[in-house]
Amino acid sequence: MTDVAARLDQVRRELADAARASGRDPTEVRLVAVSKTKSARAIRDAYDASQRDFGENYVQEMQKKAAELADLPDLRWHFIGHLQRNKAKVVVQIASAVHTVDSERLAKELGKRTAEATAEGATARREPHARLRVFVEVNVGGEAQKSGCAPGELGAVLAAIESEPALSLVGLMTVPPYTDDPADSRAPFDRLARLRDEHGGAARLPELSMGMTRDLKYAVLAGATIVRVGTGIFGERS
Ligand SMILES: *Cc1c(COP(=O)(O)O)cnc(C)c1O
Repeated sequence: MTDVAARLDQVRRELADAARASGRDPTEVRLVAVSKTKSARAIRDAYDASQRDFGENYVQEMQKKAAELADLPDLRWHFIGHLQRNKAKVVVQIASAVHTVDSERLAKELGKRTAEATAEGATARREPHARLRVFVEVNVGGEAQKSGCAPGELGAVLAAIESEPALSLVGLMTVPPYTDDPADSRAPFDRLARLRDEHGGAARLPELSMGMTRDLKYAVLAGATIVRVGTGIFGERS
């Protein structure tokens, strides 16, 4: 068994334990393996251990790896980094989901670019006519230089996504403020879940993308349906 496969097993166990401890079914929580800075080889090792969802933060890096791993057609790329509008065209050709939509302008651009890519058949990682799945990133901690929309802007961003026929609104995402104690993430995770309830609940926003290696347990307790784990699977980033 490779190192990656062994660590992946451990993360899966941790996730299943957290789900059971929260009275939830372990199959309700999906794992996105965050592979930023890691090699295509490491991604292949995870793929061979049945991992299919991978997260990348940088457009060029995702593009390069998608080309290197083009022989794995059912691998799904999740774009989880800050996205500039001028990179939207490339992202929608590769990703099946974007977790970091945080403005009406970005929603509009993604909608337009996704429709174009679909018309041109340039959607390597989605079913030919599938819509791009999008999450709205919310800056729940109100940190000054962080991406994500303010909670007060959320309604407008959600509406902008729903007015784009090529996009499928699936949920909310957050990265909590960093502190020494992972348990501190619980409050921002609960806040994201409350925002979901205030904006149509699970019927409108079925997914909550929250929780990383250090705080995944607290995310699952707060209702995460997707956790994004890098270090726990691939080891420390240099
Ligand atoms: C890097 C990153 C992760 C994974 O973080 P780890 O601590 O390595 O698990 C998750 N989400 C986002 C948005 C990231 O940038």
